Amino acid sequence: MSEQKRPEPKRLFMETYGCQMNVYDSERMRDVLAPLGYAITEKPDDADLVILNTCHIREKATEKVYSEIGRLRAHKERRASEGKGMTITIAGCVAQAEGEEIMRRAPEVDLVVGPQAYHKLPELIARAARKTGERLAADFTAQEKFDALPARAPDGVTAFLSIQEGCDKFCTFCVVPYTRGAEFSRPQASIIAEARVLADKGVREVTLLGQNVNAYHGGSTFAELLDALAQIEGIARIRYITSHPIEMTDDLIALHGSETKLMPYLHLPVQAGSDRILKAMNRKHDSAFYRDIITRLRAVRPDIALSSDFIVGFPGEKEREFEETMQLVRDVTFASAFSFKYSPRPGTPAAAMLGQVSEEEKSDRLARLQKLLFEQQTAFNLAQIDRVLPVLVTGKGRMPGQKHGRTPYLQSMHFDDDAAQNGDIVYVRVVGASQNSLSGARLALAPEAA
Ligand code: SAM
Ligand code: SF4
Repeated sequence: MSEQKRPEPKRLFMETYGCQMNVYDSERMRDVLAPLGYAITEKPDDADLVILNTCHIREKATEKVYSEIGRLRAHKERRASEGKGMTITIAGCVAQAEGEEIMRRAPEVDLVVGPQAYHKLPELIARAARKTGERLAADFTAQEKFDALPARAPDGVTAFLSIQEGCDKFCTFCVVPYTRGAEFSRPQASIIAEARVLADKGVREVTLLGQNVNAYHGGSTFAELLDALAQIEGIARIRYITSHPIEMTDDLIALHGSETKLMPYLHLPVQAGSDRILKAMNRKHDSAFYRDIITRLRAVRPDIALSSDFIVGFPGEKEREFEETMQLVRDVTFASAFSFKYSPRPGTPAAAMLGQVSEEEKSDRLARLQKLLFEQQTAFNLAQIDRVLPVLVTGKGRMPGQKHGRTPYLQSMHFDDDAAQNGDIVYVRVVGASQNSLSGARLALAPEAA
């Protein structure tokens, strides 16, 4: 009897651009496709299915997608000459914003799928592969997506948990309200259920995700949701990203002082220090409002580490207005930050504003701002030396006999220890610090017993 040959598994190549929301969405797409038996490949030319999960925030994002599609076209043609298929799928925010255009310009693309339709991927891909379906699927609701996605399969002790999508704030520079749609909060019960599943699977640290995560209103306030999540046994640490200053309510600020599972780290984008620029950005807060929130947060949680996003060279920004951003950074002091040159996004109000700042000026301002921010980040890390920090163990360290973990302030920590298991929270004395990480040695006992 001749031995039956097993069919080769189908292969999926996925490329993710952009923010944590996209990283999370890519994980969910892999989860939803798992039952179809796709094995992951790192090589696009090996793939039966390619998904580009695109981001629309940065300049030239769309052009990058087209040049990537060009490269894929060559792989697709070669595979076709060998009698093999390749289904090219474009997902994410460029898909949502430019769907029709992509289909017109790139006939080799089989499927364009917006962020709200990922739960339909198995069906959409099967149909696209058979050339019987619609090529554009960018039209579902966030509710439908949240309800339909399968339970998570985390592969570590930390996990993202999406609780809110979309944005109604319409900052004048930003495409998110156009690509991700209106603000939508997932019902509290379904978030709690997913968090319980994650905890049962060994997740110790959950990061709640949303474009405006603290604008959450899915049947409770955001602070009430955090409080409910903190009751879940097994979940030891909670973080959230990204917050808007005007949604930092009194109960949320107070919770930072009382809930020990809420980590003392907050990413709270301010964007700029000048009130005139903040107004032109339609940020809905001024610099005094932002400073006041920071003062109140530090009053309840003095060690809280702060992070922010900054945009330099917004249309009309004068040197003295940029200097106000520098002064805000000097006054507040940040433990980490992301900073960007303003880049016009087609269709947003700022793209049509007068007074666009030259590329040279933007680069110069960005360099000055980043120098200051990096100095602050390094100073924050150096200030940890000799402190003992509770570290969540996440994996092996760089060297044999080392582990890697996360401090409460979201710093990466490499420390000497063989025994700790992933998911343990151990006490580590900090012995070294650089701009991006800490090093240390584990204490045998908790500090109070040592
Ligand atoms: N929702 C978050 C908020 O309100 O801060 C983050 C949205 S966006 C995904 C992340 C960051 O990208 C923004 O905070 C902003 O600093 C930056 N960004 C967005 N649009 C930009 C643009 N047109 N040019 C430069 N940076 C931009
Ligand atoms: Fe974009 Fe502003 Fe909404 Fe953040 S709050 S997603 S920056 S429009």
